[in-house]
Amino acid sequence: MKIGFIGLGNMGAPMARNLAEAKHEVTGFDVVTAAPSGVAFADSAAEAVDGADVVITMLPDGAILRQVADQIIPVMDAGAVLLDCSTVDVESARAVAGQAEAAGLRALDAPVSGGIGGADAGTLTFMVGGAADAYRDALPLFDIMGQKAVHCGASGNGQAAKICNNMILGVTMIGTCEAFALADKLGLDRQAMFDVVSTSSGYSWTMNAYCPAPGVGPVSPADNGYQPGFAAELMLKDLRLSQQAAKVADADTPMGAKASELYARFVEDEDGHGRDFSAMLPRFEGRGRS
Ligand code: NAD
Repeated sequence: MKIGFIGLGNMGAPMARNLAEAKHEVTGFDVVTAAPSGVAFADSAAEAVDGADVVITMLPDGAILRQVADQIIPVMDAGAVLLDCSTVDVESARAVAGQAEAAGLRALDAPVSGGIGGADAGTLTFMVGGAADAYRDALPLFDIMGQKAVHCGASGNGQAAKICNNMILGVTMIGTCEAFALADKLGLDRQAMFDVVSTSSGYSWTMNAYCPAPGVGPVSPADNGYQPGFAAELMLKDLRLSQQAAKVADADTPMGAKASELYARFVEDEDGHGRDFSAMLPRFEGRGRS
Protein backbone atom coordinates (compact mmCIF):
# COMPACT_ATOMS: atom_id res chain seq x y z
CA MET A 1 0.00 0.00 0.00
CA LYS A 2 0.96 3.62 -0.40
CA ILE A 3 0.90 5.07 3.11
CA GLY A 4 1.19 8.67 4.35
CA PHE A 5 2.35 8.96 7.98
CA ILE A 6 1.96 12.24 9.91
CA GLY A 7 3.60 12.50 13.35
CA LEU A 8 6.93 10.66 13.55
CA GLY A 9 7.52 10.99 17.31
CA ASN A 10 8.26 8.35 19.93
CA MET A 11 5.38 6.16 18.75
CA GLY A 12 4.94 7.19 15.12
CA ALA A 13 8.55 6.70 14.03
CA PRO A 14 8.82 3.01 14.94
CA MET A 15 5.29 2.32 13.61
CA ALA A 16 6.20 3.92 10.25
CA ARG A 17 9.50 2.03 10.19
CA ASN A 18 7.72 -1.30 10.75
CA LEU A 19 5.34 -0.57 7.85
CA ALA A 20 8.27 0.29 5.58
CA GLU A 21 10.11 -2.87 6.63
CA ALA A 22 7.01 -4.83 5.59
CA LYS A 23 7.51 -3.39 2.08
CA HIS A 24 4.79 -0.77 2.13
CA GLU A 25 5.63 2.52 0.45
CA VAL A 26 5.65 5.00 3.36
CA THR A 27 6.01 8.79 3.11
CA GLY A 28 6.13 10.67 6.41
CA PHE A 29 5.93 14.19 7.71
CA ASP A 30 6.62 15.77 11.11
CA VAL A 31 7.13 19.40 12.12
CA VAL A 32 10.15 18.47 14.27
CA THR A 33 11.60 15.01 13.74
CA ALA A 34 13.18 13.37 10.68
CA ALA A 35 11.98 10.18 8.97
CA PRO A 36 13.04 6.79 10.33
CA SER A 37 14.91 4.42 8.04
CA GLY A 38 12.99 3.24 5.01
CA VAL A 39 10.48 6.11 5.20
CA ALA A 40 10.56 8.97 2.66
CA PHE A 41 10.21 12.47 4.12
CA ALA A 42 7.83 15.01 2.57
CA ASP A 43 7.99 18.80 2.83
CA SER A 44 4.44 19.09 4.15
CA ALA A 45 1.58 17.01 5.50
CA ALA A 46 -0.32 17.56 2.24
CA GLU A 47 2.61 16.27 0.20
CA ALA A 48 2.99 13.19 2.44
CA VAL A 49 -0.60 12.09 1.84
CA ASP A 50 -0.61 12.67 -1.92
CA GLY A 51 -1.96 9.53 -3.64
CA ALA A 52 -1.96 7.50 -0.40
CA ASP A 53 -4.33 4.54 0.10
CA VAL A 54 -4.09 4.98 3.87
CA VAL A 55 -2.98 8.00 5.90
CA ILE A 56 -1.94 7.35 9.50
CA THR A 57 -1.73 10.16 12.06
CA MET A 58 0.10 9.78 15.40
CA LEU A 59 -0.16 13.22 17.02
CA PRO A 60 -0.11 14.70 20.53
CA ASP A 61 -3.76 15.78 20.97
CA GLY A 62 -7.17 16.51 19.47
CA ALA A 63 -6.47 20.18 18.63
CA ILE A 64 -3.40 19.22 16.56
CA LEU A 65 -5.30 16.35 14.94
CA ARG A 66 -8.01 18.83 13.84
CA GLN A 67 -5.34 21.19 12.38
CA VAL A 68 -3.65 18.37 10.48
CA ALA A 69 -7.03 17.04 9.30
CA ASP A 70 -7.78 20.46 7.77
CA GLN A 71 -4.50 20.25 5.84
CA ILE A 72 -4.80 16.68 4.54
CA ILE A 73 -8.48 15.87 4.05
CA PRO A 74 -8.90 18.20 1.04
CA VAL A 75 -5.98 16.59 -0.80
CA MET A 76 -6.59 12.90 -0.01
CA ASP A 77 -7.94 10.59 -2.73
CA ALA A 78 -11.62 9.65 -2.51
CA GLY A 79 -12.09 6.29 -0.75
CA ALA A 80 -8.73 6.47 1.02
CA VAL A 81 -8.65 5.65 4.75
CA LEU A 82 -7.71 8.25 7.37
CA LEU A 83 -6.45 6.18 10.30
CA ASP A 84 -5.82 8.19 13.46
CA CYS A 85 -3.80 6.26 16.05
CA SER A 86 -3.29 9.21 18.45
CA THR A 87 -5.02 9.33 21.82
CA VAL A 88 -7.45 12.25 21.56
CA ASP A 89 -10.80 13.32 22.99
CA VAL A 90 -13.85 11.46 21.67
CA GLU A 91 -15.39 14.68 20.29
CA SER A 92 -12.33 15.49 18.14
CA ALA A 93 -12.22 11.90 16.88
CA ARG A 94 -15.89 12.05 15.85
CA ALA A 95 -15.54 15.55 14.34
CA VAL A 96 -12.55 14.55 12.20
CA ALA A 97 -14.28 11.33 11.10
CA GLY A 98 -17.35 13.35 10.07
CA GLN A 99 -15.20 15.82 8.14
CA ALA A 100 -13.37 12.97 6.37
CA GLU A 101 -16.58 11.15 5.45
CA ALA A 102 -18.13 14.36 4.10
CA ALA A 103 -15.10 14.59 1.79
CA GLY A 104 -15.63 11.03 0.48
CA LEU A 105 -12.96 9.42 2.65
CA ARG A 106 -13.23 6.59 5.18
CA ALA A 107 -12.12 7.27 8.75
CA LEU A 108 -10.98 5.11 11.66
CA ASP A 109 -9.94 6.12 15.16
CA ALA A 110 -7.49 3.50 16.40
CA PRO A 111 -5.69 4.52 19.59
CA VAL A 112 -3.14 2.04 20.89
CA SER A 113 -1.90 0.51 24.06
CA GLY A 114 1.54 -1.00 24.41
CA GLY A 115 3.72 2.12 24.59
CA ILE A 116 7.01 2.82 22.88
CA GLY A 117 8.24 -0.76 23.41
CA GLY A 118 5.12 -2.11 21.71
CA ALA A 119 5.45 0.37 18.83
CA ASP A 120 9.05 -0.68 18.34
CA ALA A 121 8.38 -4.43 18.53
CA GLY A 122 5.17 -4.25 16.46
CA THR A 123 3.10 -5.61 19.34
CA LEU A 124 0.60 -2.79 19.92
CA THR A 125 -3.09 -3.34 20.64
CA PHE A 126 -5.46 -1.21 18.51
CA MET A 127 -8.93 -0.18 19.69
CA VAL A 128 -10.79 0.80 16.57
CA GLY A 129 -13.87 2.88 15.83
CA GLY A 130 -15.34 3.40 12.34
CA ALA A 131 -16.93 1.54 9.45
CA ALA A 132 -16.40 -2.23 9.15
CA ASP A 133 -15.10 -2.08 5.55
CA ALA A 134 -12.41 0.45 6.47
CA TYR A 135 -11.48 -1.71 9.47
CA ARG A 136 -11.14 -4.75 7.21
CA ASP A 137 -8.91 -2.84 4.79
CA ALA A 138 -6.69 -1.58 7.63
CA LEU A 139 -6.31 -5.02 9.27
CA PRO A 140 -3.09 -5.96 7.42
CA LEU A 141 -1.52 -2.76 8.77
CA PHE A 142 -2.69 -3.48 12.33
CA ASP A 143 -1.10 -6.93 11.94
CA ILE A 144 2.26 -5.33 11.12
CA MET A 145 2.20 -2.62 13.80
CA GLY A 146 0.51 -4.69 16.46
CA GLN A 147 -0.57 -8.08 17.73
CA LYS A 148 -4.24 -7.39 18.36
CA ALA A 149 -6.97 -5.14 16.98
CA VAL A 150 -10.53 -4.91 18.31
CA HIS A 151 -13.31 -3.29 16.30
CA CYS A 152 -15.29 -1.35 18.91
CA GLY A 153 -18.07 0.05 16.71
CA ALA A 154 -18.73 3.48 15.23
CA SER A 155 -16.33 6.43 15.01
CA GLY A 156 -15.03 7.58 18.38
CA ASN A 157 -15.56 4.19 20.00
CA GLY A 158 -11.87 3.34 19.78
CA GLN A 159 -11.09 6.43 21.84
CA ALA A 160 -13.97 5.59 24.19
CA ALA A 161 -12.50 2.12 24.79
CA LYS A 162 -9.03 3.53 25.36
CA ILE A 163 -10.06 6.11 27.97
CA CYS A 164 -12.38 3.71 29.79
CA ASN A 165 -9.57 1.14 29.97
CA ASN A 166 -7.07 3.72 31.19
CA MET A 167 -9.50 5.15 33.72
CA ILE A 168 -9.73 1.66 35.24
CA LEU A 169 -5.94 1.38 35.07
CA GLY A 170 -5.34 4.71 36.86
CA VAL A 171 -7.91 4.00 39.56
CA THR A 172 -6.58 0.48 40.07
CA MET A 173 -2.97 1.60 40.26
CA ILE A 174 -3.84 4.12 42.95
CA GLY A 175 -5.81 1.48 44.87
CA THR A 176 -2.92 -0.98 44.63
CA CYS A 177 -0.36 1.62 45.78
CA GLU A 178 -2.39 2.91 48.72
CA ALA A 179 -3.03 -0.68 49.84
CA PHE A 180 0.73 -1.42 49.80
CA ALA A 181 1.38 1.78 51.80
CA LEU A 182 -1.28 0.77 54.35
CA ALA A 183 0.16 -2.76 54.53
CA ASP A 184 3.62 -1.28 55.25
CA LYS A 185 2.23 0.73 58.15
CA LEU A 186 0.44 -2.33 59.49
CA GLY A 187 3.70 -4.30 59.44
CA LEU A 188 2.62 -6.64 56.64
CA ASP A 189 5.49 -7.84 54.47
CA ARG A 190 5.14 -6.76 50.81
CA GLN A 191 5.89 -10.21 49.45
CA ALA A 192 3.20 -11.71 51.69
CA MET A 193 0.79 -8.99 50.59
CA PHE A 194 1.53 -9.81 46.93
CA ASP A 195 1.21 -13.57 47.51
CA VAL A 196 -2.22 -13.10 49.05
CA VAL A 197 -3.70 -10.36 46.84
CA SER A 198 -2.39 -11.68 43.51
CA THR A 199 -4.32 -14.91 44.15
CA SER A 200 -7.33 -13.36 45.93
CA SER A 201 -10.23 -11.13 44.98
CA GLY A 202 -8.07 -7.98 45.06
CA TYR A 203 -5.99 -9.18 42.11
CA SER A 204 -5.58 -6.92 39.11
CA TRP A 205 -3.20 -6.20 36.24
CA THR A 206 -1.51 -3.52 38.35
CA MET A 207 -0.83 -6.03 41.14
CA ASN A 208 -0.21 -9.21 39.16
CA ALA A 209 1.57 -7.99 36.02
CA TYR A 210 2.95 -4.55 36.87
CA CYS A 211 3.46 -4.66 40.62
CA PRO A 212 4.41 -1.18 41.93
CA ALA A 213 6.53 -2.62 44.78
CA PRO A 214 10.22 -3.11 43.85
CA GLY A 215 11.46 -6.70 44.07
CA VAL A 216 7.95 -8.12 44.31
CA GLY A 217 6.07 -9.88 41.51
CA PRO A 218 7.24 -9.90 37.88
CA VAL A 219 9.85 -7.38 36.71
CA SER A 220 8.23 -3.95 36.30
CA PRO A 221 9.31 -0.26 36.21
CA ALA A 222 9.40 -0.37 40.04
CA ASP A 223 12.49 -2.58 39.66
CA ASN A 224 14.13 0.05 37.48
CA GLY A 225 13.83 3.10 39.74
CA TYR A 226 10.34 3.83 38.32
CA GLN A 227 11.72 4.78 34.89
CA PRO A 228 8.70 4.65 32.53
CA GLY A 229 7.14 2.32 31.26
CA PHE A 230 4.03 4.40 31.13
CA ALA A 231 4.81 7.90 32.38
CA ALA A 232 2.59 9.52 35.02
CA GLU A 233 1.94 12.51 32.73
CA LEU A 234 0.56 10.20 30.01
CA MET A 235 -1.74 8.61 32.58
CA LEU A 236 -2.83 12.13 33.58
CA LYS A 237 -3.57 12.97 29.93
CA ASP A 238 -5.80 9.89 29.56
CA LEU A 239 -7.56 10.46 32.89
CA ARG A 240 -8.32 14.05 31.86
CA LEU A 241 -9.71 12.80 28.54
CA SER A 242 -11.92 10.37 30.48
CA GLN A 243 -13.27 13.19 32.64
CA GLN A 244 -13.81 15.46 29.63
CA ALA A 245 -15.82 12.66 27.98
CA ALA A 246 -17.70 11.95 31.22
CA LYS A 247 -18.74 15.59 31.45
CA VAL A 248 -20.02 15.68 27.85
CA ALA A 249 -21.85 12.35 28.31
CA ASP A 250 -23.17 13.27 31.80
CA ALA A 251 -21.61 10.13 33.30
CA ASP A 252 -20.92 9.93 37.04
CA THR A 253 -17.24 8.90 37.43
CA PRO A 254 -16.18 9.83 40.98
CA MET A 255 -13.23 7.41 41.10
CA GLY A 256 -11.95 8.59 37.71
CA ALA A 257 -12.27 12.19 38.90
CA LYS A 258 -10.33 11.44 42.07
CA ALA A 259 -7.62 9.56 40.14
CA SER A 260 -7.32 12.49 37.74
CA GLU A 261 -6.96 14.90 40.68
CA LEU A 262 -4.29 12.72 42.37
CA TYR A 263 -2.24 12.26 39.18
CA ALA A 264 -2.48 16.03 38.48
CA ARG A 265 -1.04 16.75 41.92
CA PHE A 266 1.61 14.07 41.48
CA VAL A 267 2.73 15.30 38.04
CA GLU A 268 2.39 19.05 38.54
CA ASP A 269 3.23 19.70 42.20
CA GLU A 270 5.19 16.68 43.37
CA ASP A 271 7.99 14.68 41.73
CA GLY A 272 5.84 12.59 39.39
CA HIS A 273 6.70 14.12 36.01
CA GLY A 274 8.90 11.74 34.01
CA ARG A 275 8.38 8.86 36.45
CA ASP A 276 6.38 5.73 35.80
CA PHE A 277 2.73 5.95 36.87
CA SER A 278 3.40 3.21 39.45
CA ALA A 279 5.66 5.67 41.34
CA MET A 280 2.44 6.52 43.20
CA LEU A 281 3.66 3.88 45.70
CA PRO A 282 6.70 5.84 46.97
CA ARG A 283 4.41 8.90 47.01
CA PHE A 284 1.91 7.21 49.35
CA GLU A 285 4.69 5.57 51.36
CA GLY A 286 6.03 8.89 52.56
CA ARG A 287 2.68 10.33 53.62
CA GLY A 288 0.38 10.29 56.60
CA ARG A 289 -3.35 11.03 56.55
CA SER A 290 -3.09 14.81 56.63
P1 NAD B 1 5.44 12.51 20.56
O1 NAD B 1 5.28 13.87 21.11
O2 NAD B 1 6.77 11.81 20.70
O3 NAD B 1 5.08 12.51 18.98
C1 NAD B 1 4.13 13.37 18.38
C2 NAD B 1 4.76 13.92 17.12
O4 NAD B 1 3.82 14.73 16.42
C3 NAD B 1 5.99 14.80 17.40
O5 NAD B 1 7.13 14.30 16.72
C4 NAD B 1 5.58 16.17 16.87
O6 NAD B 1 6.65 16.92 16.30
C5 NAD B 1 4.54 15.78 15.82
N1 NAD B 1 3.65 16.87 15.46
C6 NAD B 1 3.06 17.78 16.29
N2 NAD B 1 2.30 18.64 15.56
C7 NAD B 1 2.42 18.25 14.27
C8 NAD B 1 1.88 18.75 13.05
N3 NAD B 1 1.07 19.81 13.02
N4 NAD B 1 2.23 18.14 11.89
C9 NAD B 1 3.07 17.07 11.90
N5 NAD B 1 3.62 16.55 13.03
C10 NAD B 1 3.29 17.14 14.18
O7 NAD B 1 4.27 11.63 21.19
P2 NAD B 1 4.15 10.02 21.19
O8 NAD B 1 4.68 9.50 22.47
O9 NAD B 1 4.65 9.51 19.90
O10 NAD B 1 2.57 9.86 21.27
C11 NAD B 1 1.74 10.06 20.14
C12 NAD B 1 0.31 9.74 20.50
O11 NAD B 1 0.23 8.40 20.97
C13 NAD B 1 -0.25 10.62 21.64
O12 NAD B 1 -1.59 10.93 21.34
C14 NAD B 1 -0.12 9.74 22.85
O13 NAD B 1 -1.07 10.05 23.86
C15 NAD B 1 -0.37 8.37 22.26
N6 NAD B 1 0.24 7.26 23.02
C16 NAD B 1 1.52 7.35 23.47
C17 NAD B 1 2.06 6.30 24.19
C18 NAD B 1 3.48 6.36 24.71
O14 NAD B 1 3.86 5.49 25.51
N7 NAD B 1 4.30 7.32 24.29
C19 NAD B 1 1.29 5.15 24.44
C20 NAD B 1 0.00 5.07 23.91
C21 NAD B 1 -0.51 6.14 23.20
